[in-house]
Amino acid sequence: MDLAVTSLRSARTRADLRLAAGERLLAGGTWLFSEPQPGVTGLVDLTSLGWPSVERTPDGLRVAATCTVEQLAGYAPDPAWTAWPLVGACADALLMSFKVQGQATVGGNVALALPAGAMTTLLTALDAVAVVWTPDGGERREAVADLVVGPGRTTLAPGEVLRAFDVPEHALGSRVAVRQVSLTAAGRSASLVVARRDADDAVTLTVTAATPRPVRHRFPSAATSAQVSGVLSDVEWYDDVHGAPDWRRAVTTLLAHEVVAEVTA
Ligand SMILES: Cc1cc2nc3c(=O)[nH]c(=O)nc-3n(C[C@H](O)[C@H](O)[C@H](O)COP(=O)(O)OP(=O)(O)OC[C@H]3O[C@@H](n4cnc5c(N)ncnc54)[C@H](O)[C@@H]3O)c2cc1C
Repeated sequence: MDLAVTSLRSARTRADLRLAAGERLLAGGTWLFSEPQPGVTGLVDLTSLGWPSVERTPDGLRVAATCTVEQLAGYAPDPAWTAWPLVGACADALLMSFKVQGQATVGGNVALALPAGAMTTLLTALDAVAVVWTPDGGERREAVADLVVGPGRTTLAPGEVLRAFDVPEHALGSRVAVRQVSLTAAGRSASLVVARRDADDAVTLTVTAATPRPVRHRFPSAATSAQVSGVLSDVEWYDDVHGAPDWRRAVTTLLAHEVVAEVTA
């Protein structure tokens, strides 16, 4: 879709990210150009900042906000990263063609905060922390699980920019199980559930798509069936054309038991 904008700036430095009235950050543009954007008169392209897509760090992995889904899925992981298949599973859970995956960015997916945002699922399930550039030139860090607060809503304040996501080594080396379900054969995710078991036997259950925001619960050790049911008993279930809340509750509860059983087996 053509947007009625009068300016397109390619950001080269951090100072270029100061937005004028009517300007909007542009990453892959797969959402921005997919529907009308009333009030948007200019775009500031983040991809020209040249951030390395994926970087090894002493503590794990840094994924740039501008890393595309395709680049992340194509990254050659450390052989010790047993959780890496989750990257491909979450990329596949996005209802988009390989062409869109080549443009859509991880940061754009998190910033949009759609319940079916599978990059949010991935990063939440792996305890990733978002690195946020603040308009005063500073930086703040917040767990992705807390940054997404509802459909289309994040904690990002005006002028804040997602710079990267830091994924800790312990999560990359964990054991994971994932299940996804859609209401129709090629439908958007209605429920996306991940269990992760760390080296210390702690189990982390992450539920997305079925809920308005990510739900994450950590069990100190192998969780019983009753504990899993208990955690999900007072969750708010999302309601849209991709699934009714009671169906989402039923199917998610089933999937949650499956993934927890799989990682603890
Ligand atoms: C065919 C198709 C299928 C799709 N399927 C799904 C799906 O299954 N699940 C889903 O969640 N989404 C889906 N989307 C929506 C969207 O394409 C994805 O969420 C994508 O990851 C957005 O990334 P982008 O880089 O294209 O973002 P853009 O369109 O460039 O930007 C999206 C929004 O995020 C803001 N933004 C981007 N980067 C940053 C940043 N670093 N810091 C702060 N704000 C930022 C922009 O200002 C804009 O408001 C789909 C879109 C299409 C066209």
